[in-house]
Amino acid sequence: MIGMIKVNHLSKKFGNLEVLKDINLDINEGEVVCIIGPSGSGKSTFLRCINQLERPTGGTVQYEGKNLLDKNCDIRKFREEVGMVFQKFNLFPLKTVVQNVMMAPILTKHMNKEEAHAKALAMEPKALLFDEPTSALDPELVGDVLDVMKSLAKEGMTMIVVTHEMGFARDVADRVIFMADGYVVEEGRPDAIFTAPRERRTQSFLSRVLPATA
Ligand code: ADP
Ligand code: MG
Repeated sequence: MIGMIKVNHLSKKFGNLEVLKDINLDINEGEVVCIIGPSGSGKSTFLRCINQLERPTGGTVQYEGKNLLDKNCDIRKFREEVGMVFQKFNLFPLKTVVQNVMMAPILTKHMNKEEAHAKALAMEPKALLFDEPTSALDPELVGDVLDVMKSLAKEGMTMIVVTHEMGFARDVADRVIFMADGYVVEEGRPDAIFTAPRERRTQSFLSRVLPATA
């Protein structure tokens, strides 16, 4: 597997508030990484620092070997190749993940909706970043959207998915990252994280969000 996105010693402060603290993460081509963790732990800020919607305070983010923080780096090209699906994407008048991904060519390439629709996933994104894509959805749509995401994963799409859907993380992720208080507390294969978490912080989070088995 080839390293696609590499995050090194990433930090982010808002004023005195240290939201991300020395995050290190390599995402390989074709890998599905799910990020779980409590509210306020920095998950959204992390995704926003990856695609430079937020300027990191320290560290580097590389995409295919290029440092995105470099002044000469063409961030538009990165955004054309790496789509972001936002938490409240149903605020767009478009309702499915595939349609939402079509927003990118409409916005950045000035296609009309029909043109974009004619080539759904027209930009053939190389990777997709999802920020709790189902948390603001009509409950009836959640299963459909998770199914679309599952088929994207099966087709080999590289995906970073911040999610509260523990079932999705367990079934679909190649790797699960547990974040709390701006740190990556623990990462591993889903079976290891969900059945035998090593860190107390992970154990206490999972004991609250997973149904009791006893
Ligand atoms: P999560 O997605 O895990 O819930 P966030 O990344 O949204 O966490 O937020 C992490 C922390 O950073 C929170 O304390 C939040 O209030 C703060 N934060 C996020 N964005 C900003 C911002 N633009 N300005 C100031 N504080 C922010
Ligand atoms: Mg968030």
